[in-house]
Amino acid sequence: MSAPIKSTILGFPRMGSDRQLKKLASYGLSEVPVGDFSYYDHVLDAALTVGIIPERYQQLDACRLAGNKSINVDVPSLEMKKWFDTNYHYMVPEVADNQRFVLHNTKVLDEFLEAKELGHNARPVILGPVSLLALSKPAKGAATKPLDHLANPGASLSGAQWVQVDEPILALDLDAAVYKAAFAETYNAFAQVAGLKFLLTSYFDRLGDNLVWAAALPVHGIHLDLVRGAADLDAALELIPKDKVISAGLINGRNIWKANLEKQLSVLAKITAARTPASVWVSSSTGHLDEETLGWLSFAEEKLEEISILAQAATNPDDVAAKLQDNSAKVLSRATSERITRAAVQNRLAELTAESYRRQAQFNERQKAQRAALRLPLFPTTTIGSFPQTAEVRRARAQFRKGALSQAEYQKYLEEETQKCIEWQDQAGLDVLVHGEFERTDMVEFFGEHLEGFVFTKKGWVQSYGSRCVKPPVIFGDVSRPHPMTVDVARFAQKCSPNKPVKGMLTGPVTILQWSFVRDDQPRSQTAAQIALAIRDEVVDLEAAGIKVIQVDEPAIREGLPLRKSDYSAYLEWSVNVFRLATTGVRNETQVHSHFCYSDFNEIFTAIKSLDADVITIENSKSDLKLLGALQVHGYSAEIGPGLYDIHSPRVPSVEEMAARFSALQQYIPAENLWANPDCGLKTRGWPEVKEALTNLVTVAANARKAH
Ligand code: GLN
Ligand code: ZN
Repeated sequence: MSAPIKSTILGFPRMGSDRQLKKLASYGLSEVPVGDFSYYDHVLDAALTVGIIPERYQQLDACRLAGNKSINVDVPSLEMKKWFDTNYHYMVPEVADNQRFVLHNTKVLDEFLEAKELGHNARPVILGPVSLLALSKPAKGAATKPLDHLANPGASLSGAQWVQVDEPILALDLDAAVYKAAFAETYNAFAQVAGLKFLLTSYFDRLGDNLVWAAALPVHGIHLDLVRGAADLDAALELIPKDKVISAGLINGRNIWKANLEKQLSVLAKITAARTPASVWVSSSTGHLDEETLGWLSFAEEKLEEISILAQAATNPDDVAAKLQDNSAKVLSRATSERITRAAVQNRLAELTAESYRRQAQFNERQKAQRAALRLPLFPTTTIGSFPQTAEVRRARAQFRKGALSQAEYQKYLEEETQKCIEWQDQAGLDVLVHGEFERTDMVEFFGEHLEGFVFTKKGWVQSYGSRCVKPPVIFGDVSRPHPMTVDVARFAQKCSPNKPVKGMLTGPVTILQWSFVRDDQPRSQTAAQIALAIRDEVVDLEAAGIKVIQVDEPAIREGLPLRKSDYSAYLEWSVNVFRLATTGVRNETQVHSHFCYSDFNEIFTAIKSLDADVITIENSKSDLKLLGALQVHGYSAEIGPGLYDIHSPRVPSVEEMAARFSALQQYIPAENLWANPDCGLKTRGWPEVKEALTNLVTVAANARKAH
């Protein structure tokens, strides 16, 4: 028997179980992480730990402490941003000029001690200081940048052996002149903490150029994502000094497919050939949030088993021979299944021509045709699609799923809700109405349930932000649309509103792809094109049913952007193409809308333009007009509705506040192209605040029309 190789993971799903430690150890993992769990957001936790708390909250706290209960609690929340290229949102910390770091919150420490009491010498996981500051933004009016404040926040985790420091920004294109020094300063300081060993981890992509200096940092171990960052391996073996541990991320933490253990074993063999077994760990590829993306508890557990099999097989293959054989058989059966490859879908893809990706006329001509057909006022008002998913709506759906409500009863209930929603919008004075999306839990599940090639789990929840979760479907085979999905509800909604157009509401191919677990046996672009054809059929059917405005949401298009600039263009090309494939099957009169959450659009503006949508709605209320500068720079000329208020908080924006924003918008966007709408869908809100906010919004547009 050779010395065993250690096995570990970088983190475990947040949703579901709260007995993680016990489980991890029982799967035979020798090194167990702790502190990766968060009740809300791990970036917020990290910021709180070191006392990064915006002044507006400190004041609030002080007032509360002073017993002042009648204080005005109207403080804007922190901005939320997508976590790398995942669908997770983190709270963006704000660093002020006078920022001091103090140990403000002892969560990691407490959890470490708790694990110790249970008999585990666990490895605390912290978000690295460089990443924390790089992901922060300057507080309003601050003259300094967050990174200027880099200081050693101090790790008082005495008694721990290993501390895992996650520095996911190492997977980005970094300015070496700035970051090499920032990392060196931080990790030199860490190295002074006696008795602690630091495992520097990075994931989401290759380290690339950053490897040269990251390998030289004075840490005790480096984790490599060898699924997404396989290209780093040769250089890493050369550059990482032999006395450091290499933690090999060989089991994909971002997807749910069984690993090909034979293939991963050969990668592991390459590492063990160059290192002593004691300095090699086998791990999951990605960090704790990726394990959350995985979110799928039983699958997460199988991954633990795969990791432990790999670790054993590296030194004692005979012990796990049967398990390895079983793995190869399953990998092979998937590769050859006829449920996966379907000729009709493949043929249709092969027959596409340039016309399949083009509208009949250019935007200017379409705009004229749409004006004549729709007769909308100046500054048309609309919403992004969903209306409040109240407890009652969710209860009705749950009862339908349990069989307590029949299909007909559920249908009737949905129609009543839709009708009420349409009538309210009409009375409130909105111009382009929506049916409210009461039949949907989230943007993807509904479509996945109606398309072929998808399967579902009952409990595969993953976190989107805070306590909000989604349940991604699994795309296992070729995708097609056996029957229309939204035509009935759209037709019904339009019937409830004879005088105003109702928008058909669909999720775009890139977003459906991005928010599913996607098959790994063909390029993502090909799976996306299959989804696009299904959506195209739906768009054409909606038009035939008399729907004049059709919105195809692509909130995830920015999130799918690769982390490295050199990978951008290939992604943007196919993602623009599949959107066009989905939306160009209609006449000039039919107005195609698209919606994107988030405003970090600079890198992709050319792509957004190439989507050739007639109207886009976009998050704007929190982005300090950055977006609008980009609009001008890139010469955006179609119609656009930058959101007038943030829907993530129950706060009702006043007429004055939105009017100020709306007049700022008019400096950048020609009046005849400007729409008035919220930032995003309203499903997380309650009716009273929605009614108040939208009534104010309609007033803003009406006043602006008068003033124009
Ligand atoms: N139409 C969707 C809704 O309103 C869009 C949501 C989103 O952009 N995330 O809910
Ligand atoms: Zn949105």
